[in-house]
Amino acid sequence: GESRPAVSDVHRGPTGPIEVPSRLLMGPGPANVSPRVAAAQTLPLLGHMHPPFFRIMDEIQQGLRYVFQTDSPYTLLVSGTGHAGMEACIANLIEPGEKIVVGNKGIWGARVTDLASRYGADVIDLQTPPATAFSYETLEQAVTEHKPAVLFLCQGESSTGVHQNLAGLGELCRANGTLLLVDTVCTLGGIPLHADDWGIDAIYSGSQKVLGAPPGAAPLFFSERAFQKLRNRKTPVASYYFDLNLVGDYWGWFNKRFYHHTGMVSNWYGVREALAMTADEGLDHLWQRHGNCAQMLWGGLSSMGLEPLVEVEAERLATVNTIKVPEGVDWAAVNANAMSKYSVEIAGGLGGTVGKAWRVGIMGYNATPANVELVLAAFRDGLRQQGRL
Ligand code: PMP
Repeated sequence: GESRPAVSDVHRGPTGPIEVPSRLLMGPGPANVSPRVAAAQTLPLLGHMHPPFFRIMDEIQQGLRYVFQTDSPYTLLVSGTGHAGMEACIANLIEPGEKIVVGNKGIWGARVTDLASRYGADVIDLQTPPATAFSYETLEQAVTEHKPAVLFLCQGESSTGVHQNLAGLGELCRANGTLLLVDTVCTLGGIPLHADDWGIDAIYSGSQKVLGAPPGAAPLFFSERAFQKLRNRKTPVASYYFDLNLVGDYWGWFNKRFYHHTGMVSNWYGVREALAMTADEGLDHLWQRHGNCAQMLWGGLSSMGLEPLVEVEAERLATVNTIKVPEGVDWAAVNANAMSKYSVEIAGGLGGTVGKAWRVGIMGYNATPANVELVLAAFRDGLRQQGRL
């Protein structure tokens, strides 16, 4: 039979309770969650096919319709972080050989070009100068020239802190047989978005930023046009886990509930509660709160002589603020001091902005004047240490 040697203790552990320091997360996400969201996650587990859990899934879909501002029945949470939402959209909306115009203004555009080519798309990689948004005219020219199956844009490019204006793009896409796909991972809930009125066809987001839930769920929206594209594909969706024909069936898109994968029960309790907090506060109030905090942040930063990386004011994102690192300043020392002395996370750049910018997130539960004051105090102290103030 099997041999039964003594249990090895070489790797025994971990032992004892988990240790987690308390930190104020003022980078580009994740942000801290409210006690109400944290508490919801500790509620008893339900089976992923139990009717009370289906009711919670229905509530999540209602909350998503509110934050997306849509009447579409096609909303759900993709199991996974923002990237899972990104991959689900690309895998389902594009068939091999079809064109996608990727509005690429940083890391997130670059990731979509990579992903889309893995799914066999013919990728048109449209780039802007660093830390700028696309003009309507540039996008109009690309869409009318290529008539792509999909136009991708990132509403908030968190690597550069750039906000993309989406005005007029819905009509442009409709006129050219194109689906409009938008990344809202770092913006959903923090700045205005109107999926139906703006004619957006597909959106993905993340739970861990403005919405104020832990990482692990990617809110997704499909318009009727996107849904029809999915249902009329000539080729099967190349990903099993992200096939929205199957995932949608679990979320009731086809008026029944079919087991595809185990819903992320505790995580979705948290998202449900975060969406309820959003609805309790109201989107207008939430957008305003983010705008006010961003304004307060910039007031304080400019009094220290710090400048925005994004030149055009209308292209600055309230949720991820990018600050130019002045010549000769050790940006990493400022971040390290903020963490060790204030337990505050201030982030460095990402991709093309590494060493050039700091990134300060103003997101959801963390978007308060008191937290902004703490970030400003950390900057002031860090700059003083380097003889800059
Ligand atoms: N898109 C944007 C704009 C983001 O800010 C992020 C996260 N930083 C992502 C996509 C990817 O999300 P995740 O890390 O949750 O997979």
